[in-house]
Amino acid sequence: MDTVFPPMAPTLAAVTTGQAFPVRRVFCIGANYAAHAREMGRDPDRDPPFFFAKWAEDVVAGGSTIAFPPQTAAFHYEAELVAAIGKGGRDIPAAEAIGHVFGFAAGLDMTRRDLQFAARDKGRPWDVAKNFEQAAPLGAIRPIAETGPMDRGAIRLTLNGEVRQDACVSELTWSVPELIATLSRFYRLEAGDIIFTGTPAGVGPVRPGDSIAVTIEGLPELRVVIGPPAN
Ligand code: MN
Repeated sequence: MDTVFPPMAPTLAAVTTGQAFPVRRVFCIGANYAAHAREMGRDPDRDPPFFFAKWAEDVVAGGSTIAFPPQTAAFHYEAELVAAIGKGGRDIPAAEAIGHVFGFAAGLDMTRRDLQFAARDKGRPWDVAKNFEQAAPLGAIRPIAETGPMDRGAIRLTLNGEVRQDACVSELTWSVPELIATLSRFYRLEAGDIIFTGTPAGVGPVRPGDSIAVTIEGLPELRVVIGPPAN
């Protein structure tokens, strides 16, 4: 059947093998490192995991220059370990969850922090704060056969060469298997889904011209540059 305009091409993420990974959905976890939960004003011992989403088209490749988005005076970085799902399922037990992972990548959950706080204070959805064009930079995905379960190792973000986030993925409040188990009770996970697993403490603002690098031990580095305002 003719379409009224050309169908959207799927978002393809890079894989270290040279293949491409078609991104289906982007799930994100809030407040999954205790120190970051505290800096956001939450009680890390009491809050259960909670989720929000971005569009697949928000994903941009490492090496990109991303436009400074409109309607914000507080555009923040959040370095995150990202799990890419290779095999779908519902009600996946945590003990089997790693078998559903295709691989891992370094990601950035770019956030309009002022809009997030405004939404949170009014009990409104986070969409305009979290889900917008180019809000999900993603490094190359490395297959799990090479990375292992990624339950340890340093996660670090540098802004213009200065370390701003420096933690260990073993500090995740909810582990990757626990996140997959929980998410798969709400959604049937599918191959192509990716899960941003939360950011450590040290989030902060960026300006046009800034250069961000996310380094996670065992994964390809993710670099992006903040460009001028979107037009
Ligand atoms: Mn985040």
